[in-house]
Amino acid sequence: MTTYPQIILKPGKEVPVLRFHPWIFSGAIEKTIGKPAEGDIVECISSAGNYLATGHCMPGSLAVKLFTFKRQEINDAFWYSKIKEVWQVRHSVGLTDNPGTTAYRLVHNEGDSMPGLIVDVYGNLAVLQAHSTGMHDIRQILADAIVSVSEGRITSVYDKSSESIRKMTGRTVSDGFLVGTLGECEVLENGHRFHVNVVTGQKTGFFLDQRENRELLARYAKDKHVLNMFGYTGGFSVYGASAGAKVVHTVDSSAPAIAIAEKNMKLNGFDASAYDCIVADARKYIETMEFGQYDVIVLDPPAYAKNVASRSQALKGYRTINAMALAKIKSGGVLFTFSCSQVVDRQMFTSAVTAAAVDAGRQVRIIQHLSQPPDHPVNIFHQEGEYLKGLVLLVD
Ligand code: SAH
Repeated sequence: MTTYPQIILKPGKEVPVLRFHPWIFSGAIEKTIGKPAEGDIVECISSAGNYLATGHCMPGSLAVKLFTFKRQEINDAFWYSKIKEVWQVRHSVGLTDNPGTTAYRLVHNEGDSMPGLIVDVYGNLAVLQAHSTGMHDIRQILADAIVSVSEGRITSVYDKSSESIRKMTGRTVSDGFLVGTLGECEVLENGHRFHVNVVTGQKTGFFLDQRENRELLARYAKDKHVLNMFGYTGGFSVYGASAGAKVVHTVDSSAPAIAIAEKNMKLNGFDASAYDCIVADARKYIETMEFGQYDVIVLDPPAYAKNVASRSQALKGYRTINAMALAKIKSGGVLFTFSCSQVVDRQMFTSAVTAAAVDAGRQVRIIQHLSQPPDHPVNIFHQEGEYLKGLVLLVD
């Protein structure tokens, strides 16, 4: 068996690792045996000398991301077995062979015990995004495993790691196909058609985490005036229009996103007089809205907090945008409001929205709490992984 460099933990620091927490911080490390570079595989050893886990070496204070708690050779067969396992999970929740839904997340970071890796599937194309040098270094092995495990369902794998690797390490790497090539990419989600541009789109191309929340919106949309704010390529809008909304307005500051939103509305055959897709800044748009113009509003802003340092500013941002929407929504209206900031937990988000209700002077009932779907699992020992929080509010 290969001998890997070892990091020896300080006394007591083995406790979270024994509970399968997937991260080691530099402050927990007593000493390092060998000279592991960023991205190298290291074994984590307790102060008593016992093996605990194996992971990838990271730069900075988050020193190691752990991907197994069982001592073993880390080779192609190991990564194949990891991909096989995530595939089986998606199979068991009905996503690998679903004729109505052809897009889903195959690998979700810590939630799938593969910290540093995201893989989203769009029909026969998989998009891989590495958030660690360790995962980026083995991208070809992972891509080959994905194709092999899928048994013909996935025929292309696109590596879209350049932005995440640059942000993390400052290194410049290029995106490109690891397997196959790309044609036009169109997927189905709960029977609705969506065009996805994985190359120029945000993240891997589509926000798969809102699949079930979009389905829920459909229940409230019939005969209503719906505003899909921060609408990106029109995910919520397609569901709203399909459910029989009178009017659906999709608003986003990104012109390329709105162009695809327009395309998606056409693709699903809606009457052009029932929808509009608008490039605008959220605050400016809401400011000019009339009171009562919309019965149903979706607010799904980008992550306002990227780290703990920006959290209090982010909470102010959530409060402001929610107060503005609450002040304008029709009496008896329904607001779907979300935060996808990992460092803003459910309690903090609910408090910010409560403050917004006070600011708006409206009576508000929480009628549902929303989260992310089963292809975005949360490691119970790393609950920060539950990044998507949502509330459905009934506004008097
Ligand atoms: N709800 C969408 C995903 C939203 S992601 C879906 O289901 O697909 C957040 C979106 O907010 C992005 O499309 C981004 O372009 C947009 N955005 C960011 N800042 C904005 C602003 N100030 N005003 C309007 N849209 C903004």
